[in-house]
Amino acid sequence: MVFGQFSTSRPFRTSQVIVTPMSILMVKKILLDGSTCGKCTQAEEILRKRNLWNRIDTVVYAEEGNAESEGMKLAAEYEIDLAPFFIVKDEEGSDRLYTRVLELIKKELEVPSSGTLAFNIAAANIKYESFAPGKILADVQDTFGDELILAFSGAEDVVLIDLAAKNGKPFSVFCLDTGRLHNETYVYLDTVRDHFGINIDIFTPSPTLLEPFVKEKGFNSFYRDGHSKCCGIRKVEPLNRALKGRRAWATGLRRDQSPTTRSDLKHAEYDEGHLNDAGKPLIKINPLLDWTSPQVWDYIRKNNVPYNPLHDSGFQSIGCQPCTRPSRPGEHERAARWWWENDTEPECGLHLK
Ligand code: SF4
Repeated sequence: MVFGQFSTSRPFRTSQVIVTPMSILMVKKILLDGSTCGKCTQAEEILRKRNLWNRIDTVVYAEEGNAESEGMKLAAEYEIDLAPFFIVKDEEGSDRLYTRVLELIKKELEVPSSGTLAFNIAAANIKYESFAPGKILADVQDTFGDELILAFSGAEDVVLIDLAAKNGKPFSVFCLDTGRLHNETYVYLDTVRDHFGINIDIFTPSPTLLEPFVKEKGFNSFYRDGHSKCCGIRKVEPLNRALKGRRAWATGLRRDQSPTTRSDLKHAEYDEGHLNDAGKPLIKINPLLDWTSPQVWDYIRKNNVPYNPLHDSGFQSIGCQPCTRPSRPGEHERAARWWWENDTEPECGLHLK
């Protein structure tokens, strides 16, 4: 086996594999016993761990002993006798071959660590008025690179993931596991990971805070004392850790989710509650702020995006299991959260200014 990188300006000549501009094709090898070669599996794992698997547009297989398989034909065409290998076609029409996944990542997939690109919030908000949500995300993906992270929990957030994936640029996702989510939500998290081929960084409550709290107050003190302390420990503190080292985060917040607490959202705004490593407020990006709930669901259905099955059981806004109930007819979507508190503006503290 020979490992190394080959560059060539030859156009693609295969007639059976369509390679679009800026696309990446991976050739994996299938051994005679039907198993996938270990190096190919390892390469896929590396890409998945770095949230780069969604950058591979096409996978074809080189079947050992079958010279007519797609991968074998490409191997012969490019005179390569090993697997995996990657063919990158760029916008200029040239193609480059890589036989080492780390080299592919370094030369083609890694976004330079940002901090160099300036972000003018006022100018961005003017610009974003005419941008569709996917274009806003693409812009901040370019601007912040790996210092941007997407928050994931609800239906709006999975739309963001789908848009970010379709932009073909790397992105990171985090989710807060309060320890009190519905089992359906945990199953759904795995579904999303598999669907998009991404990792989701999970942040859980600090035992140092949670254990004494539960010891003193019990598991369900929110029904008696209100939700703010429990949400502070199970959500807000983990969020602070999730955002550490970032310059920006993107959320699926919509203006119409709350007439008072969310009606003045901007596409880009300072998050004074979270500071970056330079001590400056993080930038919070809200690409879907103008969308309504029906628009979100229209997108989900048209694009076959996976959604939490609890939505089919009447849940609109889904949080922790003890604090979320199905919505009643005509009820505002947020009214089914902490319903016993008679709070007209139910918020968990993640997005309070
Ligand atoms: S939603 Fe309920 S269970 Fe979840 S963190 Fe808040 S108070 Fe605790």
